[in-house]
Amino acid sequence: MRSQQIRTNFLEFFKARDHRVRPSASLIPQDPTLLLTVAGMVPFKPYFLGEATPEHKRVTSVQKVARTNDIENVGRTTRHLTFFEMLGNFSFGDYFKREAIAWAWELSTTPADKGGLGFDPERIWATVYEDDDEAFGFWRDETGIPEQRIQRRDAKDNFWSTGGSGPCGPCTEIFYDRGPEHGAEGGPIVDESRFLEFWNLVLMQFETDGTGNPEMKGSDAIVGPLPAPSIDTGSGLERVAMLLQDVPTVFDTDEFKPMVDLAVDLTGVGYTGRFGEGSPESDTWIRVIAEHARATAFLISDGVLPSNEGRGYVLRRLVRRAVNSARKLGTDASIMTPMMEQVIDTMSPAWPDLKTQAQLITKIAQAEEDTFSKTLSTGLVKLGDAMDATKERGDTTLDAETAFTLHDTYGFPVDLTIEIAEEQGLTLDRDAFAEHMEAQRHRARAATKSGRDAAATDVYKRAAGAVEGVDFTGYDHFEGDSWI
Ligand code: ATP
Ligand code: MG
Ligand code: MG
Ligand code: MG
Repeated sequence: MRSQQIRTNFLEFFKARDHRVRPSASLIPQDPTLLLTVAGMVPFKPYFLGEATPEHKRVTSVQKVARTNDIENVGRTTRHLTFFEMLGNFSFGDYFKREAIAWAWELSTTPADKGGLGFDPERIWATVYEDDDEAFGFWRDETGIPEQRIQRRDAKDNFWSTGGSGPCGPCTEIFYDRGPEHGAEGGPIVDESRFLEFWNLVLMQFETDGTGNPEMKGSDAIVGPLPAPSIDTGSGLERVAMLLQDVPTVFDTDEFKPMVDLAVDLTGVGYTGRFGEGSPESDTWIRVIAEHARATAFLISDGVLPSNEGRGYVLRRLVRRAVNSARKLGTDASIMTPMMEQVIDTMSPAWPDLKTQAQLITKIAQAEEDTFSKTLSTGLVKLGDAMDATKERGDTTLDAETAFTLHDTYGFPVDLTIEIAEEQGLTLDRDAFAEHMEAQRHRARAATKSGRDAAATDVYKRAAGAVEGVDFTGYDHFEGDSWI
């Protein structure tokens, strides 16, 4: 099934069950405590917390989400992206566990030509919170899954809370068995084994006062049942597509592959498409380029600009990691303009804003690449000098201060320093480097406290304000180059 069909079937299924279809909110959340929209529920948080009353108690959406905690996983696991689309259905004090589980099962197992997703029912597994006999019972009785395919998990995996006071509750997660070629049968479901998590149903049913750790079993932090339990579900579109298209990773799905293919063309290295053992490091860098390009386009489209703090820094890191990956693959040519054009081309049928913002996206991504390229060339010269001096001294350890200055003053990534040094038979004293970093953090904290760096951060704040405010008009704000 194509990605577009998955979006449509998901939304239509819940629309037919009295859900209102809501458009995706921006990746920049309304909630000031959050850096980015990390889940489909984020725009609806006030309804769950009882701070606002929804017009309708049932909603469904395809939400753009970004997760920085998965950045290091990109390309190294089959399933993690920094930007992805979360399919979700929500009940604000309306239906609860029985319907949420029964509908997730029905949608998953109904054949595609009858409006479902068409998963093989025999290959679906579920996990429930260890004490949640109700959820266990609904899986067994409403879906007919044999008990061996329903596994109990502790709070670490299957209990949700915000960390503060308010609603909390158990989760039940749905996994798909990718088959014996991905590992042995039996035993617990383990991530990155033959099972893939594709849907999480959060069953909000308790209230916590936030005084203890509500995730701990037997904690006194749960103060009682919620008067109106709620449902929050999230399913990664790219993971569903990966499973239904029977491809090895999320990077090989229909709306992802064009970016991977272009990264291969631009770098001129091959892509084996294999995963795990036997998969070369170059495959990882190709996936990083493709993934970060996608995330970059969507972040800029929603009004994020590169900067040295907050979400602007997330964007900057994404571009730098993508460019760095291309350089590691031996490519000096620009990658950002063609990559942005490809993302816009592939994804604007589903996300038309990409087309509206095309010029802004391409310009900003390319300018950020250019800035970083300059950084890299300056850094390479400095590093070359330092390495020569080290060798002349008859030393094999590159001093940590050089690496730190390259990082701190020139923005030259330390992983690159290490790699280049190693190519020349030199090592970096990593502990000493870490000490420099720690000392720098102390200085930065002290400076922030005394306000000495207020002027510096002001520049970024102004730049950020220009796009994050309500009157973002796109391209015009780029003209002044003020954010570079
Ligand atoms: P994982 O254990 O694989 O990291 P998760 O438990 O952190 O996933 P949830 O927070 O439960 O994920 O998010 C709900 C759903 O969103 C997941 O079941 C999955 O389908 C999807 N998802 C989560 N993180 C990612 C990601 N980094 N890239 C793509 N899809 C994701
Ligand atoms: Mg995760
Ligand atoms: Mg998980
Ligand atoms: Mg999960």
